[in-house]
Amino acid sequence: MDFESILIQANTSNYTLGRYGNLLELIVIHYTGTMASALDNGANWRDNHPGTSAHFIIDRDGTIVQSVLLKDMCHAAGNIDVNRRSASIEFVSDGRDFTQAQIESGAKVVQYIMRTYGLTKECVIRHHDVVRYARYGYIADPWKCCPAPYVNGDDNSKWYQLRDLLTGEITPTHTTPTERSSSQKIVVDGWIGLDSVSAWQRVMGCKYIDGIISRQWCGSKRRHYAITTVEYGVGGSLLVKAIQRKVGVTVDGYMGVNTIKAWQKFVGVDADGWFGNDTARATQRWINSQL
Ligand SMILES: [Zn+2]
Repeated sequence: MDFESILIQANTSNYTLGRYGNLLELIVIHYTGTMASALDNGANWRDNHPGTSAHFIIDRDGTIVQSVLLKDMCHAAGNIDVNRRSASIEFVSDGRDFTQAQIESGAKVVQYIMRTYGLTKECVIRHHDVVRYARYGYIADPWKCCPAPYVNGDDNSKWYQLRDLLTGEITPTHTTPTERSSSQKIVVDGWIGLDSVSAWQRVMGCKYIDGIISRQWCGSKRRHYAITTVEYGVGGSLLVKAIQRKVGVTVDGYMGVNTIKAWQKFVGVDADGWFGNDTARATQRWINSQL
C-alpha cells in the first residue's frame, strides 16, 4: 500500500474471513455518525462484538486506520451480497462535511483499491445506494442515509463532487459493478425455487429479496408442492401478502387454497387450488413478462 495506515485488526466476530469466491468490485463510502476518533472506532471493533466492521476508518485529521484486510468481508453494507464484493470505508463525521485532510487520505485509500482491483469510479458508491446493487439477501435499512452529509437533495451533485475528489484522475479499466438485474429472465421449468421466488419478490416490489416464502402453515405443504423454497412457521409472507393484494383476496400472508385459486385465475390456469407444476410454469411466464 502506498499510504500510511495504522492496523488495528478487528475481532473476527465482527467480520467474515474470505469473500466466498466473489471479486471485490465495489467501494462503499460511509460516515460513522459520531465524532469518536478513527482509533477509537478501531479499538471498539478489536475489543467489542457489535457484529459490524469496515475495512478502513478515516479520521478528521487524515489518520487512516485499517480494521479488516481487503481479502476479507466486513459487515458494513447491510446486505450479504454487497458485503461479499465490496470494501467499506468509514469517514469520521457526526453529519458535518468531511475535512480536506480526510478527503485527501480517503482518496489515497480509494485510489489504491481502484488500482489494485481495476475498478472505475462508478464502482465507488454510498451506503445509501446499496439497495441498487444487492442481488439477493435481506437489505437492512434500504436507502440508508449514509454518509448523511452526502445524501441530500434531488440531484446527487454534492456526492458526485466528493466521488470525483476521492477517485481523482483514475479512469480505466475492466470492472464495472454488477447492479441488481431487473431484466434477467428466469427458467420456466415448473419449479418455483430461489431464482423464481427472488424474481417474483422483485416484480411485486417487495423490500426483501431472499428467494424464500417464509412463515407458512406447515399443514399446507402439499398444496404448494411446486414451490421449493418455503419456510414454515407463523406470521405469513410479505410476498404472499403482495400477491393477495394484487388478486383481491384476504391479506393474511398464507398461501392457502383461496389465494392459490385466485392466483391461478390471474395467470390463466385451471383454478383447482393446488400449486403444482402447471401453475408454477404459468407463474414463471408471468414473472418473465414483468421483468
Ligand atoms: Zn453506512
